Amino acid sequence: MANEHPDGQFSQKLRVPEALTFDDVLLRPRESRVEPDDADVSTQVSTNVTLNVPVLSAAMDTVTEAELAVAMAREGGLGVLHRNMDVSETGAAIEQVKRADELVIRRENVVTATPDQTVSDVDAMMERASVSGAPVVDEDDKVLGIISGTDIRPYLEVGESDTVREAMTDEVITAPEDIDARDALELMYEHKIERVPIVDDDNHLVGLVTMQGILARREHENAARDDDGRLRVGVAVGPFEADRATAADDADADVLFIDCAHAHNQNVIESAREIQAAVDADVVVGNVGTREAAQEVVDFADGVKVGIGPGSICTTRVVTGAGMPQITAVSEVADVAVEHDVPVIADGGIRYSGDAAKAIAAGADAVMLGSYFAGTDEAPGRVITMNGKRYKQYRGMGSVGAMQSGGGDRYLKEEDEDEEFVPEGVEAATPYKGSLASELHQLVGGIQSGMGYVGASTLPEFKERAEFVRVSSAGQTEGHPHDVMITDEAPNYSPQNE
Ligand code: 5GP
Repeated sequence: MANEHPDGQFSQKLRVPEALTFDDVLLRPRESRVEPDDADVSTQVSTNVTLNVPVLSAAMDTVTEAELAVAMAREGGLGVLHRNMDVSETGAAIEQVKRADELVIRRENVVTATPDQTVSDVDAMMERASVSGAPVVDEDDKVLGIISGTDIRPYLEVGESDTVREAMTDEVITAPEDIDARDALELMYEHKIERVPIVDDDNHLVGLVTMQGILARREHENAARDDDGRLRVGVAVGPFEADRATAADDADADVLFIDCAHAHNQNVIESAREIQAAVDADVVVGNVGTREAAQEVVDFADGVKVGIGPGSICTTRVVTGAGMPQITAVSEVADVAVEHDVPVIADGGIRYSGDAAKAIAAGADAVMLGSYFAGTDEAPGRVITMNGKRYKQYRGMGSVGAMQSGGGDRYLKEEDEDEEFVPEGVEAATPYKGSLASELHQLVGGIQSGMGYVGASTLPEFKERAEFVRVSSAGQTEGHPHDVMITDEAPNYSPQNE
């Protein structure tokens, strides 16, 4: 017949496979004996790093700096520091996270008194520094005693000009540098004291252990810690940033994330391979979105990160016409990665805890979120009010603003001041949300409930048991609150997420 043409090469291209994303699918409920609270969400995020909570915060300059990374690690997840900062600032931020929960407060951060100071002077000093006691040291930094609020109070009543020497406790209990938390606590109970100066062989002050510090560590029993008990931290490094990679590694970062919008690029892969070989830290390579890309990196990567254009602030798909709907992308990459025991991280597009559950069910070992955390107290930036509602700034690392502050090479763009950027992201505001801990609690609770619906008590079991059904647009409408006017937003559901 006249209108019957054999398919040519172009029309053949349009015989396309289907690619799905979060809203296209739901988890099919299955018989279960699992109570959500008992579901274990611990996971492997890279070859050598396990987490009690399978969640990472995005390496974006409106999301993860040291403060948020500390909060993430304390709650059991992993913060990934952004790289719109100098290499030296990256080192300092890593150090800040590593020191946050250290058992021993280091010398430079210990508030000390001298024997000739007056008690009123020391009292004011301790109040300013929000500490309730201080080691007393001589001019050679040798420990002479310790002074606390209880020592000072009687003196303040008698005479403010009395000296520390008179008021301090001089039979001071000290400990060596290698003391562990259990021994320190025992020492404190035995002597009824709240702080123990740490000294070297010559009695020089090298640090301080406090009861408060030990108890605070105990509060975070799920925390992500390295072998020395310090909080874990991830760091984004540019695809060709060997200097930042080395500096981060030297500062004891746990995982480096090759931060590239399209890692299926031979130059990026070659450089990532070199970086991986040169550092002690694990190296996660990303982002990728196809099985072929995964195949190119699984022989050396300690993890693979998936996401080509799903991010909430991302315009890659509209600007370039390229991308992969996220659920399909995760599943393709996981098909390959699982064969090589390489963990998979689903990065971007997660608005609800249900999306995170679907990403894991589709093969991810952990999820990375940006917008979800950008509105928390611990994220950089201040709270702004618009039309009576509170917001924080959130911008894509491929937005004009973020690229002007440094990160253009994520999009493999040359930094040329004379030329205009071609952005792949927007600058936005996201609702203010309060503490990171409560946001993360909602997210993890939702994942655990999803595991309950599927009858899975661990994440590997979840991945194995989970089955998906396809959702029509009518099913999609049915799945959200409908035919009602929401009067109170739930902590884990806001129409603004739409
Ligand atoms: P969200 O959780 O907000 O949906 O997505 C966060 C993720 O989006 C980040 O982890 C990162 O992979 C990606 N991303 C961040 N900024 C940009 C951008 O400007 N453009 C694109 N294409 N992706 C971005």
